Formats: sequence, C-alpha cells, structure tokens
Amino acid sequence: TVGAVALDQHGHLAAATSTGGYNNKPDGRVGDSPVIGAGTYARDGVCAVSGTGKGEFFIRHVVGHEIAARMTYLGENVETASAKVIMEDLKPHNIGAGLVAVGVDGSVAAPYNTDGMFRGWVTDTGKFFVASHDDVMSYP
Ligand code: ASP
Repeated sequence: TVGAVALDQHGHLAAATSTGGYNNKPDGRVGDSPVIGAGTYARDGVCAVSGTGKGEFFIRHVVGHEIAARMTYLGENVETASAKVIMEDLKPHNIGAGLVAVGVDGSVAAPYNTDGMFRGWVTDTGKFFVASHDDVMSYP
C-alpha cells in the first residue's frame, strides 16, 4: 500500500491510498483503501488519514473517520488520536497496521504497530524526512 496525505497552502486536507490488496485475497474483495472513512479519509478543518494493514479491521473500526471524530469531539491532536487507534483499537486483533496522518495545524503522525514502516514527509520549509523504523533521516 502507498498512501499520501496533504495539507495545502489554503488549509485544505486531502488523502489518497493505493494498494494491491492482500496476497490470495478472494475475488471481488474490497479492502479498506477505497472505502472512504476506513483506509482513506480527509476532512477540511480536522485531518487527513491513509492507512495500511488488514483492511477488514480498518473497515470495522472506520479508522480514518474514528481519528477525525476523536479530534473533533474529544479535542485530541492528530498524534494522540492516531496512536490510540493503531496501538489500542487495532492492536488486539494482532494485525500489522500503520497509517500516515496530517492535522489541520500541519502536525504529522505515522504510528505503526509493526517492526517498521517506510514513511516520508516534507515540512513547510521544504525540509524532507524519511524513516523506516525509529531512525529519521533528514535532507535539506
Ligand atoms: N489495506 C490493504 C487491504 O486490506 C492492504 C495493505 O494495506 O497492504 O487491501
């Protein structure tokens, strides 16, 4: 799965997710990636989310929408809301899961409950960061 989230200069949020699905997936299976609110979700004024992991559980927990709802109704920031869903809601299912998210304030979060997850992000000053595990590399 390849996912992207963005906050533009006008404050609009967007999310996009592309996936090959799961190995040996049943014919006709629809994963979470094209299901808005599950593996992909953006709401102006709140956050944008793109997830990876076993889609059935992302659909069941309506992951993207859940993060936006926690931020809206509980006042959580994008890091707290994203970590709650990946580390607490999905973890008991024993599935590898992760996501990338950006909040309306430009904060980014990329929690994962696996050994690592490739991710990268660009700041508003044009600095570029990439990471696979806890090690973060930056480029000018
Ligand atoms: N979420 C995708 C699916 O369930 C798979 C993935 O993230 O790699 O189809």
